[in-house]
Amino acid sequence: MERPPHIAIVPSPGMGHLIPLVEFATRLQTTHHISATFIVPTDGPLSVSQRAYLTSLPTGLNHLILPPVNFDDLPPDTKMETRISLMITRSLPSLREAFKSLLVEQPNTTALFIDLFGTDAFDVALEFGVSPYIFFPSTAMALSLFLHLPKLDEMVSCEFKDLAEPVRIPGCIPVRGEDLLDPVQDRKNEAYKWVLHNAKRYKMAEGIAVNSFKELEGGALGALLEDEPGKPKVYPVGPLIQTGSSGDVDGSECLRWLDGQPCGSVLYISFGSGGTLSSTQLNELAYGLELSEQRFIWVVRSPNDKPNATYFNSHGHKDPMGFLPQGFLERTKDIGLVVPSWAPQAQILSHGSTGGFLTHCGWNSILETVVYGVPVIAWPLYAEQKMNAVSLTEGIKVALRPKADENGIVSRVEIARVVKGLLEGEEGKSIRLRIRDLKDAAANVLSKDGCSTKNLDELASKLKAKKKLSI
Ligand code: UDP
Repeated sequence: MERPPHIAIVPSPGMGHLIPLVEFATRLQTTHHISATFIVPTDGPLSVSQRAYLTSLPTGLNHLILPPVNFDDLPPDTKMETRISLMITRSLPSLREAFKSLLVEQPNTTALFIDLFGTDAFDVALEFGVSPYIFFPSTAMALSLFLHLPKLDEMVSCEFKDLAEPVRIPGCIPVRGEDLLDPVQDRKNEAYKWVLHNAKRYKMAEGIAVNSFKELEGGALGALLEDEPGKPKVYPVGPLIQTGSSGDVDGSECLRWLDGQPCGSVLYISFGSGGTLSSTQLNELAYGLELSEQRFIWVVRSPNDKPNATYFNSHGHKDPMGFLPQGFLERTKDIGLVVPSWAPQAQILSHGSTGGFLTHCGWNSILETVVYGVPVIAWPLYAEQKMNAVSLTEGIKVALRPKADENGIVSRVEIARVVKGLLEGEEGKSIRLRIRDLKDAAANVLSKDGCSTKNLDELASKLKAKKKLSI
């Protein structure tokens, strides 16, 4: 009997990349019998969450871990995007070896998928006659920017944040330069060069699957779907969100606690897998929550002046509870639950008692909140999160955004204002109605005849057709 096709997937580090890639691969496996091997580059031992996630992959999905690359030569202030890109680039020799073995075991491997910054792995794929593809785990807006960046780079000579006019990304609402992705904020930094390097290589892909859908990002997707010479075909397949548990945490305490709270009354607070607040900001958030007198579940991390301090290890190294204001846990014990480092986010958002989500605006978190219809407080920290916050507040209008003071700190009074506004105020009510419409639209695009299902079918047919050609 003919063997169904197989794909290789090289995820870049970070749970926010791994989780949607696993969901994407699971869909291809369950609906199209396309199995997958995750080939995982590393710079040391896997984080607890990564390990838990990879060891519980569904049937048909395997993984193998590449030997760690050495980063001893990198200065301590090396940016995340540089580290991620270098992790792929320095893994190319071991990736080549892994590919050789994979093709012996799975000679029907037809495609290699990478995510944001892994385009150097395309060279290995092409050497073995395997088609290069991208799974873009972020917004259609960020993808539109990536595809436009080589042109923008030629057109603009100053820093984007110094431009008098907002930047026009094809199909998107105009964005102020300072709200663009973090790594394009300093064009002299290596991180910018890596983003541009990857962006220029996007055109090598035979196709790009993007984790979004029309009702959420109609403008950007409209532009991405237009045919243009040299532009890969784009397949909107979202919202793909984590369906299983996030593996390593026992979520039962959170869920039991939520069971005892009134419907729609709890604010869930989380800054994703990598987000951290400064010590001053952590304090203000704690006092702001107290002042708001609203119920909450808060995933707390130890403070750090770097906003993405735990990106490569979401569990951090220290016990975060000791950093909360004195007496906070005691004073809020009847209305709040504080969880160190990691919580079962998808299950919390799908719980009826959850009525709001204060989020760092990571794209997976946004997709999850949309799928479960939970109104948002947008608190962007790094990467493309400021752009996402602009879309949420000014584009689809499903979020409130607190204002920082002149020192960049969001005060306790401002926090209490937006928390109350979201859970009890008129603004919160209209946001709730809008996000419920999006929730219905999300369910619709993923239904049997929905657009995202059809786009995934089309992509799967292409992967299968490639196999036939090469036989
Ligand atoms: N997540 C989780 N528990 C946590 C923090 C994060 O399950 O305590 C999951 C979350 O549900 C999402 C992913 O980790 O699927 C984070 O991805 P996102 O794009 O929101 O942010 P990133 O971590 O990439 O900044």
